[in-house]
Amino acid sequence: MDKNAFTLSKAPEISLSLAEQKQGLLSAIIATSDDAIISKTLKGIITSWNPAAERMFGYSEAETIGQHISIIIPPDRIDEETYIIGQIAQGNRVSHFETIRIASNGDQIPISLSISPIVNSKGVVIGASKIARNIRERQIANEKQSILAAIVASSDDAIISKTLEGIINSWNPAAERMFGYTEAEVLGKHISLIIPPERFQEETFIIGEVSKGSKIDHFHTVRLAKDGRQVAISLSVSPIVNDSGMVIGASKIARDISEQLLVQREKERLYEQVKALNDKKDEFIGLASHELKTPLTSISAYLQILSTMVTDEKSRLFVARTRLQLKKLSALVSDLLDISKIEAGRLQLSVERFDILQVLKDAIELLSYGNNNHHISLKTEIVELQVTGDPNRVEQVIVNLLTNAIRYSPGTDRIIIYLSREFHEVKIGIQDFGIGIAPEKLKDIFTRFYRVDDANSNVSGLGIGLFLSQDIILRHKGRIWAESEPGIGSTFWFTLPLDE
Ligand code: ADP
Repeated sequence: MDKNAFTLSKAPEISLSLAEQKQGLLSAIIATSDDAIISKTLKGIITSWNPAAERMFGYSEAETIGQHISIIIPPDRIDEETYIIGQIAQGNRVSHFETIRIASNGDQIPISLSISPIVNSKGVVIGASKIARNIRERQIANEKQSILAAIVASSDDAIISKTLEGIINSWNPAAERMFGYTEAEVLGKHISLIIPPERFQEETFIIGEVSKGSKIDHFHTVRLAKDGRQVAISLSVSPIVNDSGMVIGASKIARDISEQLLVQREKERLYEQVKALNDKKDEFIGLASHELKTPLTSISAYLQILSTMVTDEKSRLFVARTRLQLKKLSALVSDLLDISKIEAGRLQLSVERFDILQVLKDAIELLSYGNNNHHISLKTEIVELQVTGDPNRVEQVIVNLLTNAIRYSPGTDRIIIYLSREFHEVKIGIQDFGIGIAPEKLKDIFTRFYRVDDANSNVSGLGIGLFLSQDIILRHKGRIWAESEPGIGSTFWFTLPLDE
């Protein structure tokens, strides 16, 4: 348009009449317009068709001149033409009439139409000029706008926008619910309306960040509702930027987290309660096992004296049985005492250098004594292997694993112990051919008080042996694990690091 306007104003033909100059200017405007400009007779015959009309509807000027305007009107909208021509014939204008026209390729084009009568020198209407503007982009923008508006309206989070001076300029229904003010009550008001006075400096900080173009995410704070209620919120604030990239305001999204905070506080309270109960229980186990230990020691001493005094066969047998049961009871009480020591972080190791083979042999001897059902064999090439650790605690682990191997393999007669040296560690395995452990239970067996219920109906126990064993091995910086198959048997492995 500029180019043509330039040509016209610089036109050398000064001799052109004013009317001719005006005509030239109009033609240039029509030729360069972005809007389709079409003229037609009152019968609807097209008499002019500008380049924008060619672009918009896909027909060239040559194709349309002399044709009826209905070539671009959808059949169901032909009535519109009758109405428009009626208005024009009476000398009226039709402005911003939104409708649809059809391009040569069949595309439906949403347009805004303005139609004016063309009047001859005698004042008679002889035709119509239409200016059509493609409003597809505007419609898309409007659609987007209404989707966004619907999201804002239906959001559960309060969505508020304000100027950089803090003046509220939008306030969605969730904000109304959250803070109790209607939109009408807050528009134009300062955001400090909902900020507790002691938190005013937060707003200065937020506006400072937003003015720099930064976002603030999940800022936990408190705001005031209309009724004075404090609302705990998680706030995200983003800058609102205009077309030229300038920050002109801030949009804030506030999520009510009062409920979430309540749930969290309740969880913390419950956790503290459970922890306190747990501590009490551990304290009780510690005290009880300690108190049990003293009388057990004296019973054991008296029984030993008694065993040297009784002579008849029956009494000797009873004393022997009583001593055996007492030994089991003492072991149980010792384990419980160890557990409470572990919980209190007081289980001590007396570390020294010792021969692991010797400890294994001692444990086998201890277990073989009084157990005629199982034969325990040791498979190793090692003749002596010094490790650093607490020999009594390591023996306790081996005895635990061996006792389990015997207890959980009724009806079988074999237990195999493996001892080998692998890289920087010694590896010990205890294999039985008993009931085995289901794969889904295997991960839990080292947990305190855990017992595989269906396997244990006739084996008594507290579920602490493996927990203790694991703690002892981990304190030695070793590893402990189990491989098992139900009905086939289990192998419990552990390692101890070797000194370099
Ligand atoms: P307890 O034997 O006193 O129940 P443990 O901590 O020693 O406690 O063992 C935990 C559980 O692991 C046992 O209850 C048992 O179900 C299972 N378990 C341990 N050793 C074996 C084994 N050699 N064979 C099968 N199951 C075992």
